[in-house]
Amino acid sequence: MIMFLKDCWRFCIDWLMPIECLFCGKYGKLVCDECLENIEFNPINRCPFCAKFSFSGITCYNCEKINKGLNGLFCYGFYNNVRIKKIIHFFKYRYLSALADPLSIMLEQVIKNIKKGQQIGALPKIIEEDTLYIPVPLHKRKLRERGFNQAELLLRKLADKKEILEENILLDGLIRSRYTHPQAKLPKDEKINNLKNAFAYNGKELKNRSVVLIDDVSTSGITLNECAKALRKNGAKKVWGVVIARG
Ligand SMILES: [Zn+2]
Ligand SMILES: [Zn+2]
Repeated sequence: MIMFLKDCWRFCIDWLMPIECLFCGKYGKLVCDECLENIEFNPINRCPFCAKFSFSGITCYNCEKINKGLNGLFCYGFYNNVRIKKIIHFFKYRYLSALADPLSIMLEQVIKNIKKGQQIGALPKIIEEDTLYIPVPLHKRKLRERGFNQAELLLRKLADKKEILEENILLDGLIRSRYTHPQAKLPKDEKINNLKNAFAYNGKELKNRSVVLIDDVSTSGITLNECAKALRKNGAKKVWGVVIARG
């Protein structure tokens, strides 16, 4: 019943209400082209774990030695950018799934920038022909509550843009094997324990393949790191995170 009401609500806001830009009120799109262009692309040059300087967000040598998880975290900008925060909030908590469009344009730019960095030799080899793209999974219970997995929706939109190949997308290999408490309310060490072994992998062969994990936001990097550990345990060569925003 709740799902049905949520679907109705989504239908109403997506189709019946006049579509206006969340920022300037212009009719036509939820984020108009000008307002989207005004959200500055600001890749963060810091290690996702210790926050020391690290070009584009590659995990530093020390943290890589300790974590053996995520090899780097690339983003469009900071979560405290008011525009980014507003779009993500409306996308996730007010179920405006059409916001996957502007958000996927931002993700596309992050991926293009990684490819450019590789080409000019500023970044190591991150995205290869057979790199797999995997959305950070939601637990079944959370999926029922929200009605959609925001990471999966973003990844599907990204594939529509032909920036990544359909056959390199893997939607069901990585699973959240147990329900966890919302991370935001916990202190840091409890966050790590909360997510320990919360992910499992049972998809196709990963040996010598690199993986790009997609999500909307990463604050502590712990969720992505736990996903990355599960993937590397199963043979993935390197695991990278690509998100809209870092906290
Ligand atoms: Zn606008
Ligand atoms: Zn570090």
